[in-house]
Amino acid sequence: MANFRTHISVAAGIGAAATSYGLYIGLWPLAHAPSLVLLTALGGVMPDIDADKSRSVRLIFTVLAIVAAFIALSIGRAYFSMAVVLCVALGLYVGIRDAVSVIFRLTTRHRASWHSLLASGGISAATAALSYHFFAQGPRLAWIDGGAMCLGMLIHLALDECFSIDLEGARLKRSFGTALKFFDYRRPVATTLMAGAVVALWPWLPPWPYASDMPAARCIKPVAAQSTPSLSADILSVFARQNP
Ligand SMILES: [Zn+2]
Repeated sequence: MANFRTHISVAAGIGAAATSYGLYIGLWPLAHAPSLVLLTALGGVMPDIDADKSRSVRLIFTVLAIVAAFIALSIGRAYFSMAVVLCVALGLYVGIRDAVSVIFRLTTRHRASWHSLLASGGISAATAALSYHFFAQGPRLAWIDGGAMCLGMLIHLALDECFSIDLEGARLKRSFGTALKFFDYRRPVATTLMAGAVVALWPWLPPWPYASDMPAARCIKPVAAQSTPSLSADILSVFARQNP
């Protein structure tokens, strides 16, 4: 399998190239480009979230902890005092980074369910939902964010498979076939739980921006009219979007 540096540098490089091309043909605004490169790079290490000891795990849970703290700050400041919100955000940050990561390590197995196309689809869908509901992106950019995460994860799985080929010995290593798979057929319980989580995401997904029956205001807008990242997402807007 490829190491951390290979995964993150290849994913970031391909992410930068794809983002530049999208910018060139006007698929997204310049302000959105850095987040797409970062999401692709993060996706490039995401499947190793189940590795017991790796830099990927530390990085992934630190990013997740920052996102959770940010969401707590965004939502909580409308309802509680700043001191309370800061305490909750700090608790979430420490809890996710130091406690949830340990629980995750104890309950998962490397190169099992998280090294699969099912996990890639689920995490990408969750990224699109987070981007839409908590980072104030329009449907199109939210799906593009999910696509950037998906691209990074697919690069990771493909790289792991490439490193399973011993070119000098002209043979396949024992690890061949364990990284790029639809789902982990050897662990039906874990796979079923993951598939259930993906299905449960359905109501939270952004509307599909290319649907022909979408109101004009929700269809593709000119790049200049796309929404930009904002720290003012509020939980009420979440429910408003769910029940327009
Ligand atoms: Zn891997």
